[in-house]
Amino acid sequence: MTQAQRIDGKAMAAELSTKIVTETETLLRKHGLKPGLAVVIVGDDPASQVYVRNKKRTAESCGFYSVQHTLAASTSQDDVLKLIDELNSDISIHGILVQLPLPAHIDEQAITQAVSPGKDVDGFHLVNIGKLTTGDTAAAFVPCTPAGCMLMIEAHLGSDLSGLSAVVIGRSNIVGKPMASLLLRANATVTVTHSRTSDLAAVVRQADIVVAAVGRAKMVTGDWIKPGAIVIDVGINRLEITVDGETKTQLTGDVDFESVSAVAAAITPVPGGVGPMTIVMLMANTLRAARLAAGLDGQSGN
Ligand code: NAD
Repeated sequence: MTQAQRIDGKAMAAELSTKIVTETETLLRKHGLKPGLAVVIVGDDPASQVYVRNKKRTAESCGFYSVQHTLAASTSQDDVLKLIDELNSDISIHGILVQLPLPAHIDEQAITQAVSPGKDVDGFHLVNIGKLTTGDTAAAFVPCTPAGCMLMIEAHLGSDLSGLSAVVIGRSNIVGKPMASLLLRANATVTVTHSRTSDLAAVVRQADIVVAAVGRAKMVTGDWIKPGAIVIDVGINRLEITVDGETKTQLTGDVDFESVSAVAAAITPVPGGVGPMTIVMLMANTLRAARLAAGLDGQSGN
């Protein structure tokens, strides 16, 4: 039985990151400009702390100026807004990221909409969502996870997906919906499915491209997949497993890697697929924000 090609997100991310390092050096040498990324975390959610640490480490390894603001879970919404205001006017900061989820007493929308659209490297501001939805991806900051998924899809299928059918599982504002916009812009015929979709398996079986962003371990199995499809697994699920009598946490995607690998043409693993690409896309967005703030174009080069 042939096995699907494993799409190595870690290797793709490393390659992209090398380019970002070179461009950052050039930006500093030619224009005296260092991209600056501010990460704000409120509270002590352990998974968020790991994500924030990784983002800071990656920003530093790209040669960026990187600051982290760690606020207590009890911080008021007004105080978070005040900090965002300061970061909006800080010329050494080009990208602002507020790690989600926020504590329940803080309105996530109020915070994400307070970030200046030009520093919104997460792509959550309505201005950026509007640009993406109208197909103006050149001007938008695109959310990092779908942007990374799109690069992996393009690496396999090229940038024109005319005639291909794509099914996105999940309709969140940060993954499912922007993913659908990107696929649509690349000319795919897109179906967005969610928790109220009936006979999901039958819908997924029509797809040449499947993007799973649900948060349910191994939900998508081989019998859901059209032979030769490309499958992108966004899900991150933590499963408790017992190894030699010890309980360990295993990261698992929304896709059952083994059964899907036997049918699909290509598949992203978890870990090592979408995750590393997401972080590097954040760096790409920050570099772009720095270039735009300096009056340079958003593209790399000079
Ligand atoms: P979310 O909870 O906001 O959205 C989940 C979506 O799945 C919803 O639209 C819901 O309708 C749909 N859904 C739920 N149950 C379903 C079912 N039984 N059948 C079909 N659809 C169903 O989640 P999110 O923020 O979009 O994240 C989704 C997953 O992706 C999570 O596991 C998250 O941890 C992961 N994630 C990974 C990265 C990364 O960098 N790898 C980034 C963001 C999110």
